[in-house]
Amino acid sequence: MKTKSAVLYDAHHPLIIEELDLQDPNENEVLVKVSGAGVCHSDYHYIDGHRAIPAKPIVMGHEGSGIIEKIGNNVKSVSPGDKIIFSMDAMCGFCRNCTNGLPTLCTTYGRKVTMPDGTTRFSLNNNNVYQSNGVGTYSEKTVVPADTVVKVSDDTPIEKACLIGCAVITGIGTVVNRAKVEKGSNVAIFGCGGVGLNVIQGAVLSSASIIIAIDKSEFKLKKAKEMGATHTINPDKNNPVESILEITKGGVDYSFEVVGFPEILSQAFQSTCPGGTAVMVGVQPIDAKISVDCNDLLLDRSLIGAYHGTARPRVDFQWLLDLIKNGRLNLDTLISKERPLEEVNQAFEDMNAGIVARSILTFN
Ligand SMILES: [Zn+2]
Ligand SMILES: [Zn+2]
Repeated sequence: MKTKSAVLYDAHHPLIIEELDLQDPNENEVLVKVSGAGVCHSDYHYIDGHRAIPAKPIVMGHEGSGIIEKIGNNVKSVSPGDKIIFSMDAMCGFCRNCTNGLPTLCTTYGRKVTMPDGTTRFSLNNNNVYQSNGVGTYSEKTVVPADTVVKVSDDTPIEKACLIGCAVITGIGTVVNRAKVEKGSNVAIFGCGGVGLNVIQGAVLSSASIIIAIDKSEFKLKKAKEMGATHTINPDKNNPVESILEITKGGVDYSFEVVGFPEILSQAFQSTCPGGTAVMVGVQPIDAKISVDCNDLLLDRSLIGAYHGTARPRVDFQWLLDLIKNGRLNLDTLISKERPLEEVNQAFEDMNAGIVARSILTFN
């Protein structure tokens, strides 16, 4: 079959809309008609050269939702017509990490841009086209391992639900599953894009006390307030570390770096109080390193990483949807703009200009 997809050929080039060939799903694979795809900074990292592109050309997009159109042999977890959200990590359910409750670190699948056997289902003129995170949601249709999709309830607003798979779970999961923020904690969030705003929502859910949002965009700081931040800092106007130490009288219990720069991660660490924890959420440049003052570390401070919200997607996705349905989480405020696939490059421009919380691509 044919499908329209947004393809990246090389860094520093815009995505090109192509009509690709897409094969039917093989055994243990599913064909999904994509409903919504989130425009995430992690995708842009490959366009601006912040991260190396794993294989080219590649259908971009790792955040998405849709409807199962066809299933391959041996697929038992979903049926045609089911609403699904893509987990950007396929989960085998049997390896040590899956069994220990860390399915996003599944060692059977790893993080591939092909099917598990190394073949691709997308092609153009008989040449392989790869798929971002093994998903490739900037496409009308995609074929993925059945272990990548999570079935959700029939009443899910399926276009908007695309954000659950990355922005929402990465933000809230990091707070709840990884950092395990306790009630009454003081928290700082460096970077208030789609993921950072969800770190704020997670801090509110966890009954944090002081919630400090840091961003250079006044638009995003306003969004942060709407999501529950108690204080905002624009680093172009005030030194964030000094301001945080002053507001909290000694530092936050938890700081989250959601931008992806080592110097900001250092600031996040310096903003913690003795006993505090700095959490790296942002995807850092290749070979990025930081150094920390050992005397600071000695005082029971922690510096930890968090990948994909340390999520258990088969539990967490429906949990987050239920919170949204019951008015305890805000999804609509996160979505600033909906665009068709053809406007994906403009959506990235909006993101870089700091004038949207999150854009989503929607498909008819
Ligand atoms: Zn993402
Ligand atoms: Zn596994």
